[in-house]
Amino acid sequence: MTESEKLKETLFCQKKNGRLAAGDELLAEADRYCEGYKAFLNAAKTEREAVKEAISKAEQNGFTAFQYGKAYKAGDKVYINNRGKTAAFVVVGEDPVETGVNITAAHIDSPRLDLKPNPLYEELELALFKTHYYGGIKKYQWTAIPLALHGVFALTDGSVKEVSIGEEDDEPKFVINDLLPHLSSEQVKRPLSEGIKGEELNVLVGSHPFREDKGSELVKLNILKLLNEKYGVTEADFLSAELELVPAAKSCDIGFDRSLIGSYGQDDRVCAYPALTAILEVEHPKKTAVAILTDKEEIGSMGNTGLESDFLRFLIGDLAAMQGGDGTLALRRSKCLSADVNAGMDPTFQDVMERRNASFLNYGVVVTKYTGARGKAGTSDASAEYVAEVRALLDRAGITWQTGELGRVDIGGGGTVAMYIANMGVDVVDLGVPVLSMHSPFETTAKFDVYMCYRAMLEFMK
Ligand code: MN
Ligand code: MN
Repeated sequence: MTESEKLKETLFCQKKNGRLAAGDELLAEADRYCEGYKAFLNAAKTEREAVKEAISKAEQNGFTAFQYGKAYKAGDKVYINNRGKTAAFVVVGEDPVETGVNITAAHIDSPRLDLKPNPLYEELELALFKTHYYGGIKKYQWTAIPLALHGVFALTDGSVKEVSIGEEDDEPKFVINDLLPHLSSEQVKRPLSEGIKGEELNVLVGSHPFREDKGSELVKLNILKLLNEKYGVTEADFLSAELELVPAAKSCDIGFDRSLIGSYGQDDRVCAYPALTAILEVEHPKKTAVAILTDKEEIGSMGNTGLESDFLRFLIGDLAAMQGGDGTLALRRSKCLSADVNAGMDPTFQDVMERRNASFLNYGVVVTKYTGARGKAGTSDASAEYVAEVRALLDRAGITWQTGELGRVDIGGGGTVAMYIANMGVDVVDLGVPVLSMHSPFETTAKFDVYMCYRAMLEFMK
C-alpha cells in the first residue's frame, strides 16, 4: 500500500460491492435465507395473507395472542392482530417498557388493483370487473399479464369467505387486455401516464353464457352462478368485499448467477420478512423488542390499520400499563428502524439519481436519513445523533450497509411510515433494501441486501 492509499483507507468514506468482500459461506447463507423469503412472497401476496402467515410462523416459535391486563415477564413473546391486516410481534425485555422499546416497522400492503363495490358487468358478451387501483402504479404495466384474485367477501350474517384464485397452476387467471399495436396509432400519442387510463383497467373474467334460457347478461349471470356455488355469494355481496387483483406470477431467481430475486410485492415484504424472521429469533432482549407489519402504507398510512392511526401508541401504552408504567414516556424513549425499500440505481435510468448518494444493489442494507419531496417536505429527517447510533450498531455487527436518497433533488420523492412514528416522539430512521422496478408487477432485489437487512433487524432488536 502506498502512503496515499493508506491515508485514503482511513479518511475516505468508500462504498464497496458487498458480494466482493463476502466469503462463500456468507453468500451461501444469504441464498438459504432467501429461499424462505421467496416462499413468503408466494404465500403472502396481500396484507391479510401476510398477517396470517406471520402469525402462524410466530405461533410455531412460541408467540401467543396478547391479552390485555395479563402481566407478562421478561422473555415472553406475544402478538397483536389488528383486524387481520396489521400485526405486531413483541418480545418482552429485561428493562421496563417505560424505559423505551426497540421497534422495527415494515409494511405488508403493496400496490395492486382493488375491485370496485359494483365490479361485475357484461359488455359484448364478455364479463369484466371494474377496478380502482391502490397505491402508486404505472397503469400500463398491469395489462396483458396473468392476474390472481385475493381477498374476502364479508357477509351480512357475520361470516367471511376467503378468496384466492389464480395462484395454482391448474387454477384460472384473469387479465386486463390492451390494444394491439396495429390499431394503437392514437393510443401511443397519449402521455405514458395515460397510456392506460384508470377506467380502462377492466379485468376479463369470463365469456360463457348461461344457456338454460334466453335473455340478456347471460355471461354475467353464469359468473354469478359459479360464484354462488363456490362461495354462497350474490352480486350484493361485492358491496362488502375486499377483493384485490395481484400478479399471478411466483417469485424466482433472476440472472445466470442467481444473485437476484424477482417478484411482485417486494415493497415492502423485502423488509417485512426480515423484521419478522428477526423477531422470531429474539430471546431475552434487554429492551422490549417490537416488530410491526403494517397495512395502508401505500395510500398514506391512513385508516385504523395504518400507522398514522393510534395503533402503535395504544400498543406501547398497553405494554407499559401491564407493568404499571407510562406509555407516553415509553414512546419518547423508544427507537425505531422504519424498514422500507429505497430505489436502487438502475443502469438504464441513471439520470433520476445522484450517484454519490444513491443506493446500489449488492452494496448492503440502505440507511435513508430522509425521504420526502422538494425541500424535504413530508418526511422525518432523522437526527445526526440517532444516525450515529445506527451507524455504530451496524459497523459493530459487521453488517454491510450504504446510504441512499430517494432520487435527485426535485425529480420526485416519496415517504414512509417514519414520519408518523417520529411524530410520537420516537427516534426513527429508514433502513431497507434497494429495489429495481419498484411498484411494478415484478420488482427486483439482490439476495445479499435482503440478508443484510435481516441481520440489521436482528442486531437492532436482540
Ligand atoms: Mn414501501
Ligand atoms: Mn411503496
